[in-house]
Amino acid sequence: MPVPVRHAIAELAPYKPGRSAVDLARDLGLPGAIKLASNEIAYPPLPSVVAAIAEAAAEINRYPDNGALALTSALAERFEVAVESIAVGCGSVSLCQQLLQSYTGPGDEVVTAWRSFEAYPLLVAVAGGTQVRVPLREQTHDADAMAAAVTDATRVVFVCNPNNPTGTALRRGALESLLDAVAPDVLVVIDEAYREFVTDPDVPDSVELMRGRPNVCVLRTFSKAYGLAGLRVGYLLSEDPAVATAVRKTYVPFSVSTLAQVAALASLLAEEEMRERCTAVVAERGRVSAALAELGCPVPESQANFVWLPLEDRAADFGAFCEARGVIVRPFAGDGARVTIGTPAENDAFLSAVAAWGATRV
Ligand code: PMP
Repeated sequence: MPVPVRHAIAELAPYKPGRSAVDLARDLGLPGAIKLASNEIAYPPLPSVVAAIAEAAAEINRYPDNGALALTSALAERFEVAVESIAVGCGSVSLCQQLLQSYTGPGDEVVTAWRSFEAYPLLVAVAGGTQVRVPLREQTHDADAMAAAVTDATRVVFVCNPNNPTGTALRRGALESLLDAVAPDVLVVIDEAYREFVTDPDVPDSVELMRGRPNVCVLRTFSKAYGLAGLRVGYLLSEDPAVATAVRKTYVPFSVSTLAQVAALASLLAEEEMRERCTAVVAERGRVSAALAELGCPVPESQANFVWLPLEDRAADFGAFCEARGVIVRPFAGDGARVTIGTPAENDAFLSAVAAWGATRV
């Protein structure tokens, strides 16, 4: 008889890896394939960051700094928050997991919009909690419905702003009214993995919104705009140091590597270069969105580095169609397809696939 697995874990589907660009190119007999499926930035890491990583590589016989002191101090200075109010994690996804481990257990509810970041249901289940899904309204978080979904059993509310996978963002008024409506003993986690791509001034910087609200914390990452997805480092900022303290208690020791720490630190010094890259991504986001509308596939206004095609029951077919043309997108069967903004040439290849898809449907 096999050793029984915890019920909540046995229920989860096993991990299934996505198609790699290398495998796809080989299968299709193409010189290369294009991956627009994981919201990575298309450019290599910044040169100053690569240099810092190379230098630190000579010291990896040592364990990392378990308190990530240099990085935490730099973040404290950058965001004008106390060192005690910061926790770093092995990617912001790890901080989501740590938050849930710290604040939820069996019987506790976690409110999220749906569809939203696909790791939320998994991490809530692993923590033993129950996810309460509040449907998006016009592809955007429904702030009123989310506030109404909070019950005595709710411990955490996740707000993904901009939302993955739809790219839409809550504006200041709606987000503030949600924060005002949630009881002070419920933690609101504002996941801003894509903050650096926001261009609408009415989409608030949640670090500012958090001030004076002890039940609010913000998650950010070096994976997207800074191009460090492969290194795994994100951070949490909280108004009340008790939140960061609780999260640090569930940290897997040494899980933010030395290389990740030095790369993040060097990244903070290269903010200008990062902003230039975001500007280029935003310009392409506008071009791709306009071209999709022209092709008869309008997308909701994106504030992130990806766009969402709400194709519903055609989403899976669309994903397969693009893949057969060497472009890997991220379909969610029955719902839509998320497509990362890549280089201009990659985006052109994607737009050609959409045009060909449209032609098959006429
Ligand atoms: N939050 C959201 C909304 C995301 O889309 C992602 C990455 N897909 C993450 C968190 C996690 O990013 P990372 O762990 O690489 O920091």
